[in-house]
Formats: sequence, C-alpha cells, structure tokens
Amino acid sequence: MADIDTKSIMNKEKGFTTQLVHSERLQNLESGAIHQPAHHSVLFAYDKAEDLVDVFQGRSKNHSYARQSTPSVNVLQNTLTQLEKGHSSLVFATGMAALTTTMLTLLKAGDHVIFSQFIFGNTNSFTQTLSQYGIEVDCIDITSCTDIKQAIKSNTRMLFCETIANPVTQVADIKAMKDLCQPHNIVLVVDNTMTPSYLFNAQAHGADLIVTSLTKYFGGHGNVLGGAVVDTGNYDWQNYPNILDTYKNNDPKTWAITQIKKKGLRDMGASLSSDSVHLLSVGSETLAMRLDKSCSTAHKLAEFLQQHEKINRVYYPGLKSHPQYQIARQQFKYPGAILSFDLVDSIDCLAFINQLKVILCSTHLGDNRTLAIPVAPTIYYEMGLARRQKMGIKEGMIRLSVGIEDGEDLIEDISQALDKC
Ligand SMILES: *Cc1c(COP(=O)(O)O)cnc(C)c1O
Repeated sequence: MADIDTKSIMNKEKGFTTQLVHSERLQNLESGAIHQPAHHSVLFAYDKAEDLVDVFQGRSKNHSYARQSTPSVNVLQNTLTQLEKGHSSLVFATGMAALTTTMLTLLKAGDHVIFSQFIFGNTNSFTQTLSQYGIEVDCIDITSCTDIKQAIKSNTRMLFCETIANPVTQVADIKAMKDLCQPHNIVLVVDNTMTPSYLFNAQAHGADLIVTSLTKYFGGHGNVLGGAVVDTGNYDWQNYPNILDTYKNNDPKTWAITQIKKKGLRDMGASLSSDSVHLLSVGSETLAMRLDKSCSTAHKLAEFLQQHEKINRVYYPGLKSHPQYQIARQQFKYPGAILSFDLVDSIDCLAFINQLKVILCSTHLGDNRTLAIPVAPTIYYEMGLARRQKMGIKEGMIRLSVGIEDGEDLIEDISQALDKC
C-alpha cells in the first residue's frame, strides 16, 4: 500500500500536473476515493504480535504510532518522491522542522558545514544553534566557485544553499556546486522552496537532499504549514561517516532517510498531521497553474519597476541585468515569483507600503495573494546590520511575493502608491 503505483498514468513521461492530480487516487485504488482519507488513529493494532514486531524491526512497511508514520503521510511522501524524481521522502510539521531535523541527525560535533550566506532568516539563526553544538559553520558567497573551493575542509560534511535566495534573489549554480562537492563526498543540501519541482529538477542538477517548505508554493493558500526532505538518490551513503550501524541493514539508498526518520522525526517529533496532509495535497493540485501565473506576473512587474523613475534597483533573476541571469535561464523553467526593489532614497519604504491597496503587507511568500514586506526592520531585523550588508540587503529594500491576482491590478496598485510618495 505504501509503494507508488506504477500504472501508466504515474509514468515519468506524463506531465507534472497529470501525475500530481492522479497520484492520491492511484495509491488508494481499493476504494476509488480520489483523496486519501485523513487518518486520525495514533496507534495501529495487530492481530498477531509478530506483525507488530515486523513493523518495529523494519521488515514491514505498516505503521505503529502516528509520530513516525501514518497511511496519510505516506501518500504525500510518495507523491513528493515522484514529483522530485527522487528515491524517498519524509514530511514534517513545518519547513524548518524538515531542515533542522535533517541537519541535527546527519551531523555531529566536529563536523564542518558550509552554508550559503544568502539564506532564509530562520535558517541563518539556526546556523548559530549548530555552532553551539560543536558543529563548525561557515557562511559564504556560494555564487563564487572560488569561495566554495576555499571553504572546503577535510571535515566538511554538507554544503547548503537555496536555489533562489531571498530577498536579493541570488541564484545558486547547483551543477557547479555538485562538481565541487562530489570529490570530497560532501552532501549537497538544496532548499528548493522558491523553485518547486515544477520549475526545477533538483535531482538532475545533482542535489543530494532537497529540503522544502510545503507551506509556501506547494500548499499555496496560506492555510497550512508543512515541510519535506527528499533524498534524490544521488548520494552514496556508504561514503558518509555519520550513519549509525543500526540503520545500515538495508539498501544504502535508504540509510539517510531512515536515520532522519528514526533519530529526527521519531525522537524529535515534528510530525505532520493528517489534516495538514489533506490541505497540502488539495492545495498542491494547482501548483503548476499558480506558478505559471505568478512567475509571468512577477516578470512583468520586474520590468515595470525597472523603468520607473522612483525605483533605484530591481532584483529579479529574469532580468538581463541580474548577475545570475544565464544560470537562472538554464536551470529553471521560470525564474521564480519573488522580486525585491530599492526605492529612491527620498521615499520611505514604510510610507510606500502603507499606500498599497491590493497588495498585502505581510511576511510569508508563495501565497495566492501578493505580499509586500520591508525586509530590514522585519524578517532580517534580528541578524543585525552587518549581516544584512553581507547579504546585499539595503535598509529600505522591499520584497514582493507575487500571487495570482490579475497583473494589471498589481501594476496599477504599485503605480498609485508610488504616485503618492
Ligand atoms: C519559509 C521558508 C522556510 C521555512 O518553512 P516553514 O514551513 O515556514 O517552517 C525555509 N526555507 C525557505 C527558503 C523559506 O522560504
């Protein structure tokens, strides 16, 4: 039941949305239900004690206790594995839970991790937590291969980056990073939250582990939190020194996910609820259509803002002026739906945001609604000025997460707000 159905419709030749909207149905063929039920049972009981023993000892894929797995969670995991063309997946209560659990269970004191210096604020904060546990951390400019090469040490275990960072939209060259990691057996961990699998095939570009916030584009409707880690199957875990012997009894491809599941999901407990699974899977059905719309509108907005006299600079990887324009073109179907801009110095960014009528002033991204946020005094406030400057964040910078509204309404909203400033 937990295995992916291999009927022709789930065949890899089929398009993204065809696979996605039929995935649950094909994993639940007995009843014909198109949605997987939200299983609320915490415990799973067996007529024969031997069957429960088999679950505990990994010989059976059935369930024992909902903190570790449920039939509902398995279906979402299978769907994610299929969409990412990976080997296996685990889902979590939030994106941060997926990320922190992965790192805390695969790293140990004395290891070294290289982080991109262009990362989500909470991930940046987490790097400090890792340091407190005796894990060495370096945050570097991953757009420079020279900087990556110089940062690699004999104890480097992981290289972590986001595909498109926010708010400045630096793009990571995943293939180039893979080439630098491979000779040293460094695990390439890619946060693809900004570019879900519809936009970017992380597996084919060489990512080893994908971590993602399902809260953003995947769910898309601002009503549910979730996260996932996907093992793409690219890394040979026989070369990784931190896998515990207990988890080495199966196919080496399963080792890392098993350790993350047992040490991380089971022992730390950030499990995704079955109700959240349902909301995520319903929300995700329109992922491709939402991204088509949001990315195309983001591109138009970037071009509009770029020529406006009250805008100093626009950051969007679809603009020819963007430093990684060519990489973004090669890697992604579209260069994302996040853009940032600096107003001319005479305009206060808070005053501008206060004039917006359609666009909401809110944190979060990947929503159906377009959201604007002044980043320095909010999501990047805690890290301080020096770190913001290292990330290329100007104090008056505004980030836009472009939703699915009609593009003309968004342009008009921004125009009227600029006129009033
Ligand atoms: C939001 C976000 C996360 C964290 O996800 P949550 O689901 O909010 O915990 C991680 N990485 C990136 C790039 C994000 O945008």
